[in-house]
Formats: sequence, structure tokens, C-alpha cells
Amino acid sequence: MLLQLRQHRHVKIYVVAVREIIEIPNPLLTTNTAKVVEFNAETKQIAQDLIDTVLHASDPAGAGLAAPQIGIPLRMCVVRKFKPNPNDPANTDSELSKEIILINPQITSYSNSEDIRWEGCLSIPDTYGKVKRAKQITVKAQDINGDEIKLKAAGFFARIIQHEIDHLDGILFTSKTIGSTVTDAELEKILALQSADEAIQKHIITEG
Ligand SMILES: [Zn+2]
Repeated sequence: MLLQLRQHRHVKIYVVAVREIIEIPNPLLTTNTAKVVEFNAETKQIAQDLIDTVLHASDPAGAGLAAPQIGIPLRMCVVRKFKPNPNDPANTDSELSKEIILINPQITSYSNSEDIRWEGCLSIPDTYGKVKRAKQITVKAQDINGDEIKLKAAGFFARIIQHEIDHLDGILFTSKTIGSTVTDAELEKILALQSADEAIQKHIITEG
């Protein structure tokens, strides 16, 4: 899944195994994936490749990546967690805190409250759409050693996890969009208009 807002670009040099990200209409993207049953050197390599590949994506930047997107039909993904911005919990344009590998992840509970926000995908170039997702989820998964991990996620982080787990089930966000999809240039215009609207609203409130 893509970062919705631009990241500040830091120049970094990585020694990495960056894999090619496959794109639609590759059938691997719409095929179910197999459960990981062995936790060995190969599993660790795939995990590292997922991290290296998602960190390498810069234009647009990636917020998560699932194994089928690098051509591996296994239930593994990486999700990136961002430091919350206290001034704006919805703002994703904040410093990266860590990458988390989820193996055989399952969502064990969904909040009743949902929100609708823009998403994009590294496997679907220049395409954005609005998707309704649960605001909070609880996830059970295994780590790279096969040990069980449980985590609670909210906001953008919960959205990233839901998007990546959909990939493991062969589901693309474009099958869930509300309204039509737009290009990067169209989205920039929509977001610019929105912030202009918000600025006017704030002005009116301040004035009133
Ligand atoms: Zn995606």
C-alpha cells in the first residue's frame, strides 16, 4: 500500500535485495496464498526482501508490501508503522518508526467504527480510490521465528494491515473502492481543493 502523503525524502544508501514489484494484471496478485509452515533461512530471506523492497520504493513510497507482490505466494507481509503525530493523528507524513513482518496474519476483531480514505497500491500504478475499512483491529500473527504475536492497530496503521492481508487473499483494493478511481494528478487536485475548503471553513469559524 502507498503512503497517502508524501514522505520527506531522506537520501539513504542501502545494501539490499530489492525485488521487482509485480503489477496488475499478473494473476499472482489475484490468487490466494499458502500458509507458511516452515520458519527457516528462506523465510528470513523473504522477510528481508520484503523490508528492503518496501523501503526502496520512493516514488511513490510504500507503507506495506505483501509477499505475492514480489512473486511469492505465501502468507507474509511487511507493514510500516509511523510515529503518531500528536497534532494530527490522521497525518501519515511523520517519521518512520519501524517495519513489522507479519506471517500467517489473521484479523481477530474489527471495530464497528469505520472510515473511508484514499488508498493506492505499489502493484497498481497511478491509481487511487476510496476504501471503507475498520478504524481499529486486533491481529494475531507469527513472527520470523514462528512465535505468536498479537497487536492492536488503529487509524492508518490498521488500514495498512487490512490492505496487506487482503493481498494474501488475492484481493486488490480496486475491487473495494467507493466511487471511481483517480490518477495521481487528479488526486493531488482533489486534496488541494479539500485543504482549501478546510482553510475557508477555519477562516469562517475564526471570523464568526
Ligand atoms: Zn497493495
